[in-house]
Amino acid sequence: MIISVPKETVPGERRVALAPDAVKRLSGSAVQVRVERGAGVAAKFSDEEYRAVGAEIVADGRAVRTVADVLVMVHRPTEAEVGDLKEGAVVVGMLQPATNASLVQALARRRVTSFSLDALPRITRAQPMDVLSAMATAAGYKAVLLAAAASPKFFPMLVTAAGTIPPAKVLVLGAGVAGLQAIATARRLGAVVQAFDVRPAVKEQVESLGAQFLAADMTGLEAEGAGGYAKELSTEQHRRELELIHKQLKLVDVVISTAAIPGKRAPVLITEPMVRDMRPGSVIVDLAAESGGNCELTKAGQDVEAHGVTIIGAANLASSIPTHASQMFSRNMQAFLQHLIKDGNVKLDFADEVTAGACITHAGEIRHEGARALVAAGGS
Ligand code: NAD
Repeated sequence: MIISVPKETVPGERRVALAPDAVKRLSGSAVQVRVERGAGVAAKFSDEEYRAVGAEIVADGRAVRTVADVLVMVHRPTEAEVGDLKEGAVVVGMLQPATNASLVQALARRRVTSFSLDALPRITRAQPMDVLSAMATAAGYKAVLLAAAASPKFFPMLVTAAGTIPPAKVLVLGAGVAGLQAIATARRLGAVVQAFDVRPAVKEQVESLGAQFLAADMTGLEAEGAGGYAKELSTEQHRRELELIHKQLKLVDVVISTAAIPGKRAPVLITEPMVRDMRPGSVIVDLAAESGGNCELTKAGQDVEAHGVTIIGAANLASSIPTHASQMFSRNMQAFLQHLIKDGNVKLDFADEVTAGACITHAGEIRHEGARALVAAGGS
């Protein structure tokens, strides 16, 4: 069996789907790994490192794709690239099937079996494969570093001969995986941190990291839905949440916002009038930028200055820590491949909820519900 690792083609992407240590663990008498020349260079893994663990380096992407039994990617192939794949080949990546209808159709037409790691069920058994958690960890960490760099203030309290500097005040909105990592990072830099989430279950986790869970009157604000995820708030709940956040925003130096609802636009938690009331020099890093933004003024992939506040529309932050983010992604990928591959063959068991949950196309059919709905609605 040949596992192929192409160079990522999404603009600005620096990660690679398999790092050399995972290649070493996957390779054996029944499995060979082919890596496109330079695929790991942006993540600081040289072709020599891949060769040293038994991978064959292939000169171009097309040659990598045409021989692949399993093609592994951080993102996804283009529709044209799907044409290079063998019928019955397997593709694993982050396909974002609910927004890439024509790619999903191309995969089905080519009778490719495709899996999207962003569609895995968030169950305990799938944790070692959970790329969303790994990449959110990287993003939460980097968001705080960006905020600290953009802030005109120190994060830690400093007691110096030139006077005492109070610690920065950081507010984290949404205490999921990224938010909890942001809290831990901001605390390590010495900031005083507060956090808010609509899932009351995270209060204990927030406090265990040394942050204050915003003690609002939570009655009616709890919004935990299926699978431990948040659900959308009612209009009244949302109004009360904005009121609580508005009050806090006037007192903080930095906001890291991470609030998200799976499959939906991110909730707007910071409106323009609320930005206007923030202290000049404040910084917002909006990790929800790519799904619409938690701040009304966020522009994905851009830094915006508004009313004296810097709003960083953070996009693909994990790619800005490419070595470790690739290592984490590739551990997740390795775990998923080990789940699929037995004795050098892909064994598909659709009775297994990990396999079934992550599968997007198989044998000419679109199996993923969100992608099927998008195709049926004529989306592209
Ligand atoms: P996410 O990225 O979907 O959302 C980020 C956070 O935003 C969540 O904590 C959510 O509650 C919060 N949020 C949503 N709407 C909000 C609002 N209006 N105001 C404030 N906060 C709001 O979440 P995630 O980080 O991917 O994780 C969500 C859940 O999944 C958690 O319960 C986590 O423990 C669970 N999880 C389970 C596993 C597993 O078992 N494999 C792995 C990772 C996460």
